[in-house]
Amino acid sequence: MRLGIHIPLKGGFAANLMRVKEYGCETIQLFAGNPTAWKMAPPNVVEIEKRAVLAREQSIYPVVIHCAYLVNLATRSPDFHEKSVQLLGETMQRAALHGAPYVVLHTGNHGGAGVEEGLEQIIETIDGALPKWPDGVKLLLENTAGSGTALGSSFEELARILKSFPPYTLGICLDTAHGWAAGYDFGTADGVKMLLEQFERLIGLESLYLLHLNDAKVARGSRVDRHEHIGRGQIGRDGFRELLRQPWPEGMPVILETPDIGSEWDRRNLKAVRSLLL
Ligand SMILES: [Zn+2]
Ligand SMILES: [Zn+2]
Repeated sequence: MRLGIHIPLKGGFAANLMRVKEYGCETIQLFAGNPTAWKMAPPNVVEIEKRAVLAREQSIYPVVIHCAYLVNLATRSPDFHEKSVQLLGETMQRAALHGAPYVVLHTGNHGGAGVEEGLEQIIETIDGALPKWPDGVKLLLENTAGSGTALGSSFEELARILKSFPPYTLGICLDTAHGWAAGYDFGTADGVKMLLEQFERLIGLESLYLLHLNDAKVARGSRVDRHEHIGRGQIGRDGFRELLRQPWPEGMPVILETPDIGSEWDRRNLKAVRSLLL
């Protein structure tokens, strides 16, 4: 597997890439623009292509783009829906410029319309948008903590979206803290074995392209999204050890989104993960 971490926008791409490279990172994730803004500044193509070159030169791959949190493909508001489709499309284009093969997306909140309607709208929206997305960039649906009316917290819901498209059209990003909050037992070896069996049965491990490795501040099943430093939260080291020791395909990216990204904690968290691999 290739271990990496989410890098902040603050400080700039190059400085952050070189900083985490020093910590032994082999892959990175970033937001393509302000994650809480609807409008992206027009791309500085020269600047972004420089990023792609730098990542390549430093053997940092894959570069992963996390889509802005505002995007909600299940929203009932036509205005927000249009903005969401627009911003997701721009993010896919931005990923292509970065040489990034993956864009990670939280599938959305149905806002009271119900799970079934929400899922159907997500599927329709992706189906309509897909032809406009660049080749070579895959959308990865990330499992969510399931707060409020968030969709995609269960493997069943993710499978429903994924399997509405031909195999390998979309992929999955599995986040341990979100899974834990949604009730999956990432905390014990038995729990991890069981949930991976479930994943295999409902989704298929061949659709898993990325792991988000985060400990959780909250109790299992609490449906609250609060990340914690690796080994210092409710999930703890045993579950992570079991998860990391699975026979993952070579080069499977594992990315941390632990608290205080951009600080000295990055080094500590990466070290904590590496100690579990020994
Ligand atoms: Zn996410
Ligand atoms: Zn995540």
